[in-house]
Order: sequence, then C-alpha cells, then structure tokens
Amino acid sequence: MKVGLLGGTFDPIHLGHLRAAENVREALSLDRVAFVPARTPPHRKGPRATPLDRYTMVTVATSGHPSFSASDAELLREGPSYTVDTVSEWLREHPGDSVVLIVGADTYPEMTTWKEPERLFALCSIAVAARPGQTVADLAGAPRAEIVAGPGLPISSTEIRQRVASGCSIRYLVPDGVADYIAKRGLYR
Ligand code: ATP
Ligand code: MG
Repeated sequence: MKVGLLGGTFDPIHLGHLRAAENVREALSLDRVAFVPARTPPHRKGPRATPLDRYTMVTVATSGHPSFSASDAELLREGPSYTVDTVSEWLREHPGDSVVLIVGADTYPEMTTWKEPERLFALCSIAVAARPGQTVADLAGAPRAEIVAGPGLPISSTEIRQRVASGCSIRYLVPDGVADYIAKRGLYR
C-alpha cells in the first residue's frame, strides 16, 4: 500500500489539515492517509491539550473518510516524537508499504533540522502540501519533494485556540465533532 503519514501537534486538528491530506491523497493516488499526533513535539513548547485529547480529536475528524485514520504510533513511544523513528517503525510493522511523508509548506524547510534527515529522506518520499501564506518560492532547492497544489485553507491551530479562548465561533474551521469535543471538554478556554 502507498500510505501518507501526516504528523503534527494537532492542537487541535482543523479543516486545513484535512484538506491538505485530501489534496495529497488525490494527487499522489495514496491508498490511505494516517494522521500521527506527536506526544512530545521536539521543536516547540508543550501543546495545550493532552496527547489523548489530541488523538481523540484526530480520530473524530478522520472517521468520516474511508481512507483516513488516526495513528497512535507516537503516543505509545516514550520521549520526544521523532519522525524518523515513526517512519522506520511504520515500515517495520507494514513491510509492504511505501511511505509518503506529508508536510505543510511551512514545515518543509525545517526538516533539515530534524533528527537524522538523510536517513528519513532515504526511508520515504516527501509531499509538500500547499499552505496559504506560504509560497512555493520558500521551498526553492527543496530536495526529494513533490509539491502538491491546493486548494489550501488559511486555518491554523493557533488561531483556533485563540478563537476559543476569546469565546469566538470555530464552526466550519474544524469538523463539527471536533468543535463539540472542544466545547464538552472545555479545552483552550
Ligand atoms: P500551530 O498553529 O499550533 O502550529 P498548525 O495549524 O500549524 O498548528 P500543526 O499541528 O503544527 O498545525 O501542523 C501539522 C502539519 O500540518 C504541518 O506539516 C503543517 O505544515 C501542516 N498544516 C497545518 N495547517 C495547514 C494548512 N492550513 N494547510 C496545509 N498544511 C497545514
Ligand atoms: Mg504549525
């Protein structure tokens, strides 16, 4: 199977993530896309919501798409969540798969600072999803990556958290089930 892995903090998952994954799934004819919430992202300060809440929201958000799923790969591993470990573990557990790592246009230039980038690039191919506000020029010289055009949605988790904290609506920015979960659990207030 040709599987896309989309890693992230997903604090929370929003329609921008889902549309980016759908663009890549269709453009590269992926059999499935697994969304992989990081337990402890190495490159940023701690997420607001717990790993379990973020994973649950990803499960809710992906449940309506027959090819999308949530992966608990990084939740079960101790220590920081390194993508190279996630991809090599995936390939060990799914020996027939080829992995396409999906990153947004803002994340792609950071990849050279990740753990063992050369080993990572050897294990999988990279798809860079268009993200509004990020131009393709930012990616000039990017090695071994397929750039996938939009339509992209100008939504960020940062904005979702800020809107919830100020009592603003997040309807039509996240799936309804995610908005309900955030309200019920009182997240990001
Ligand atoms: P935050 O504002 O907290 O950084 P975020 O919206 O950037 O959240 P992340 O969890 O950091 O979401 O992103 C996970 C992955 O999804 C990254 O590769 C990121 O580039 C990509 N991504 C996030 N939002 C979009 C979007 N609207 N369009 C395309 N890609 C996106
Ligand atoms: Mg981000």
